[in-house]
Amino acid sequence: MAAIRRTKKVILVFLPSESGVDGARSLYGEKELNPFFSWCNQSLRSIIKKSQFAIPPLSLMILSSVEVPGVEQSICDMRFEEFPFDKQWDLVGISVQTGMAKKAFELADQLRSRGVSVVLGGAHVTLFPESCRPHADVLVLGEADDLWKELLTDLASETIKPDYQAESFPDLGLPRPVSKSALIKSRYFTTNLIQTGRGCQYSCDFCNVHLLNGRALRRRAIDDVVSEVARFQQHDRRIFFFVDDSINADPLYARELFERLIPLNIRWFGQATTTLGQQHALLKTFADSGCQALLVGIESIEAKSRSAHKKNQNRAGELVKAITSIREAGISLYGSFIYGLDGDTLDTPSAILDFVHATKLDVPGINILRPTPGTQVFERLREEGRLLFDPLDITSYRYSFGQEMLYTPKNIPLDAFIESYSALTRELFNVKDAVVRGLSAPRAKSAVMLFNLFYTHLYSLSRHDLQHQQEKSGG
Ligand code: SF4
Repeated sequence: MAAIRRTKKVILVFLPSESGVDGARSLYGEKELNPFFSWCNQSLRSIIKKSQFAIPPLSLMILSSVEVPGVEQSICDMRFEEFPFDKQWDLVGISVQTGMAKKAFELADQLRSRGVSVVLGGAHVTLFPESCRPHADVLVLGEADDLWKELLTDLASETIKPDYQAESFPDLGLPRPVSKSALIKSRYFTTNLIQTGRGCQYSCDFCNVHLLNGRALRRRAIDDVVSEVARFQQHDRRIFFFVDDSINADPLYARELFERLIPLNIRWFGQATTTLGQQHALLKTFADSGCQALLVGIESIEAKSRSAHKKNQNRAGELVKAITSIREAGISLYGSFIYGLDGDTLDTPSAILDFVHATKLDVPGINILRPTPGTQVFERLREEGRLLFDPLDITSYRYSFGQEMLYTPKNIPLDAFIESYSALTRELFNVKDAVVRGLSAPRAKSAVMLFNLFYTHLYSLSRHDLQHQQEKSGG
């Protein structure tokens, strides 16, 4: 008689980044902040936690929705809880992002030393499998939608393999209903995360989306997305977040989808390109379907920087007009800039300031170029000898919120760059401007105000940490 196998317990782990919207902290430790700053820091962090900017990890939601007889899955979001070492796990899956890889490896090593099997997956594993292999029993390479079912089936029959690799991108046209049953709803700003497709036709050299998800846009069936929105709405009436990198990348698809969502009367956030300002019919559909705010990647208003980094889809002359049209349609805008690109000079900060004032951007996000290992820009900076950490130690390229320089800018000496970046963020973020921006936002006024207040705090951490890094390196 065949032995009866007990249910296998799988837990999927999401790790917090070093700092950012899920928890602002100094990279150099609280002890080094002065007592007043430290008090402000801790108080703000607790307010931020209560404001619940955090959203659930969609990739783990998707994987935890895969059902296989004899396997039970749960999610551990380490932004809110410690890993439950006291329970017995048959398999622990850790999502590894470049920038947080060191923490992921530490946890994996700890678990494996206790005899627990670990599977690693995610962007970092797909790009750097060999660096992950010493820390894992199983690696999942590529988009895991189909692989995960195969892996869980093998786990149930105790025939798990060391590698699961996708030969092609999953067909998103097949129905794959996402479940939220593994989530604790009250932890998050919203649990209504929807992805309509993957892939990006552009090739910005600082981004790896086109490398990880391909250059062709793959879309889910509109019927599947509409029914998912209706189903999610029954369990959580809060805002929806469409996580696609560019929700307007396929305007015909987007128009049909959001026309069909109008009767559901939702409110939603998303990410779009500024081209939306010229897509008049789509812009109206977005506004009519409850779009409250969009994040747009402006990256650079310097023509030389856009072409140096292959970000050619924005033409500077059209940007102001596009942003104005979107705001006039009643949609608030988060504009994301990168300062420190190869065409930037010490005049760039004042150009950004003028641009922010001219467009009345509701939340200006000013990032420093972050050379992520695996991107074209990382390789180029390595060849040019401009990386500040050992390029072979890819885990040292950690994620932070403008709190650490990872490279030397091309046209600006490092100390002058840090000084000018700090002056720019000091000028843009203060309590008065946060309140004014919140009150003037076309929609989502309180979210805009809270984000600006939060950024006032995060950028003060950025200035503190950059100065510390400079002092440490003798700059
Ligand atoms: S930055 Fe945006 S537009 Fe550029 S490649 Fe990445 S996802 Fe595509």
